[in-house]
Amino acid sequence: MSQAKNLINGSGRRTDGRTADELRQIKITVGVVKNADGSAFIEFGRNKIVAAVYGPREVHPKHMALPDRCILRCRYHMSPFSTDTRKNPAPSRREVEISKVMRESLEPALILEDYPRAAIDLFVEVLQADGGSRCAGITAASVALADAGINMRDIVSACAAGKIDNKIVLDINDTEDKEGGADMPVAYMPHLEQVTLLQLDGILTPEQFNECLDKAIGGCNMVYEIQRQALMQKYFGNETELKEEQ
Ligand code: ADP
Repeated sequence: MSQAKNLINGSGRRTDGRTADELRQIKITVGVVKNADGSAFIEFGRNKIVAAVYGPREVHPKHMALPDRCILRCRYHMSPFSTDTRKNPAPSRREVEISKVMRESLEPALILEDYPRAAIDLFVEVLQADGGSRCAGITAASVALADAGINMRDIVSACAAGKIDNKIVLDINDTEDKEGGADMPVAYMPHLEQVTLLQLDGILTPEQFNECLDKAIGGCNMVYEIQRQALMQKYFGNETELKEEQ
């Protein structure tokens, strides 16, 4: 993070025209992968990501199975054409790390004890990356898990906040991520009000840290509304129709 200036203009607008508290455009489509038990496609700004869930199913190799609960296996992968320069298709250190934090951010929401000796496999494939792909991936993954009918305590919504031009802003994009002062991705269970992922790249004062976390949680609540609408759309058509039925 190079701490470049002028990421916010005189009228408070960012490089992509957003204000400090604005999310990028988000669109979630549920059930896009026919062969998966559950899936979702998310467009989060210019990020385009598919999440596909398989299981609960038998564990191979068998010695990985746990007698009292299901195991969750996650793979986050960026396709070679997802960035401006060709990305090596082999899993990088960053992808291995994101796969791990993704699993840890989703596990608290899943009732894994309901499926002993089984495995749930989650694949998150980034088709186009625009900064914040781990948050967009977690958001799509939790919708895909719900679509697969996995028993869940809550949904997981994810959104980053960060610092640019010494100001705390919501949902930083690729340019802001690379040129700004800090990036804090957060995953959050909106009903249980619990944070399941908190990372920080950059330097913040204690006051800025609190402001950034509050802003990111606010963003997660906005993301949750979009996840809810997407699931309602798949299973009930739309909310108006649902209300009419009641
Ligand atoms: P996140 O996407 O969650 O913000 P990072 O902050 O680690 O994760 O990455 C930021 C961005 O850097 C990615 O969204 C992508 O645009 C870019 N990027 C990451 N890895 C590569 C790579 N191997 N080649 C080119 N660009 C990359």
